[in-house]
Amino acid sequence: MITIHLNRPGFAYEVHSLVKAFYPDQEVRVTDPVNAGGKAPERAPGEETQEPLKLVVSFFVSEEAQAAGGGPEVCRERPQDIPEDRGAREEPEVCRERAQDTPEGREPQKPQEVPEGREPQKPQEVPEGREPQKPQDIPEGREPQKSREASGCGTSVRLLSGDRMLCQDELRLAPDAPEKEIRDELKRLLYRMFSAHLGRKLPWGSLTGIRPTRIPMGLLEQGWKNAQIAQYMRENYYTSNEKTALAVSIANRERHILRDIHYKDGYSLYVGIPFCPSICLYCSFSSSPLYLWKDRVDTYLDALCKEIDYASGAFADRELNTLYIGGGTPTTLEPYQLERLLSKLEQSFSLGGLREFTVEAGRPDSITREKLEVLKNHGVSRISINPQTMNQSTLDFIGRRHTVEETVAAFGLARSMGFDNINMDLIVGLPGEGAPEVEHTMQELSKLGPDSITVHSLAVKRASRLKLFREEHREMTMTNSQEIMEMTARYTREAGMFPYYLYRQKNMAGNFENVGYAREGKEGLYNILIMEELQTILALGAGAATRLVLGQNRFERIENVKDIKNYIERIDEMIERKRSVLS
Ligand code: SF4
Repeated sequence: MITIHLNRPGFAYEVHSLVKAFYPDQEVRVTDPVNAGGKAPERAPGEETQEPLKLVVSFFVSEEAQAAGGGPEVCRERPQDIPEDRGAREEPEVCRERAQDTPEGREPQKPQEVPEGREPQKPQEVPEGREPQKPQDIPEGREPQKSREASGCGTSVRLLSGDRMLCQDELRLAPDAPEKEIRDELKRLLYRMFSAHLGRKLPWGSLTGIRPTRIPMGLLEQGWKNAQIAQYMRENYYTSNEKTALAVSIANRERHILRDIHYKDGYSLYVGIPFCPSICLYCSFSSSPLYLWKDRVDTYLDALCKEIDYASGAFADRELNTLYIGGGTPTTLEPYQLERLLSKLEQSFSLGGLREFTVEAGRPDSITREKLEVLKNHGVSRISINPQTMNQSTLDFIGRRHTVEETVAAFGLARSMGFDNINMDLIVGLPGEGAPEVEHTMQELSKLGPDSITVHSLAVKRASRLKLFREEHREMTMTNSQEIMEMTARYTREAGMFPYYLYRQKNMAGNFENVGYAREGKEGLYNILIMEELQTILALGAGAATRLVLGQNRFERIENVKDIKNYIERIDEMIERKRSVLS
């Protein structure tokens, strides 16, 4: 267990994320002046024999700086004043957004690392083995970093094991340093300290956000060259050469894919179907097993159609660019229910400018010829059939309750019916799987020949049964490695695919990323639009979160309740929530 004590609010999420990335198997708890309640639970006998670690992050302001009126608003307690037994909680209550709009197993969160027009900064110290470099050519309009005067403000960081100091460092801050700059500097300091202490680097360096490609994307928009961006990322965030290259190449590809879409004048639509044939071990969504709701799916559709009736007029002056039906598993709907939903969407929205219509069929055990016919008849252009793994024993373990043969059959059926854009999701780091098992999955997918493959790195979410499972089956490996990620990249390359979008999650196996690979012209536009937060997404259904893009890094969310019963009973309230913001 690692406890983190901060004497200033606003930094808990980033510090927690970074520490967790260095210590993926440890429970990490944070207290700060806001998150100070609660108590650490008692440990089970034998659960942990090591001395717990304590990270103390103290912002301070010297008396001179205070007298001069400088310094950030902090609790003015020195490191030694932090009480040891201040209450703890498992994770800071921040950034828990629902991933209603991405393929299963994902959870988008707010971005943190997009440079907001600030000057590139130079790290104080480059980690071992890396030569500090200066950007050779800073684009016009951007000044090289100004050196800040050392001041009486700063942050001290100490890592302790019991009373024993393991390492410490300190950061000096200008009295007027903006919060974003303090956050970045603190993350850099922590990264250097932990990587020196543990002798280990992280592939994504000090980046803790979910959308690392937004950094190169933002800089490309400002006219930076690829080499400058790569240098900036390596120096400011300590990203590895491989991850830097991946992020920069994906940003370029995204810009190319979106070049003729007027996404700022348009919008995308998400529709959520929150039922699944069974609940996967790793699922953290609010999906429900279909057998519990079988008799009320029509009632759910009644409520959804009511929301569609309202939403159809909300953006009448804008073009609908992409439509995504996700969940859950939309193909748990019976053919007549799918017919009803798709007809309703057709009648309600103007689909003339639609660039992509995706239905996440998802679970192979939910796919039938009749359902695929309905999708085909309504112009669905892209579907997902998600094996996650092609190893039957793993499928049985994770509660997917379908066979490898069903995946192959569903894929063959969809192809034979003319679906020419089929995505397949897989997960790396599943219980008991290593490189040979992942390679087997890649070989089987290569034989099928999907148009895109999304490779996820398993993320153990607090709300999933997998977390409990992991605690009960500590002998079971759930790992990922750079070699495995490179192997999946190689197979997709050999299949003629390119990486076109990526995102990260907390608690990912190996602290890697999820990457979408696709053949030219088969990329999922919706995935790019939502991950780069480029377009307003109007979201309907239980647990759906509408995200309005109001300007550069300005967003507003309108959330529906997650619970299906609540959604049905409170549908008028859900509509009113939207109306109050949109009208
Ligand atoms: S239970 Fe459903 S939503 Fe959850 S991971 Fe499995 S298929 Fe996806």
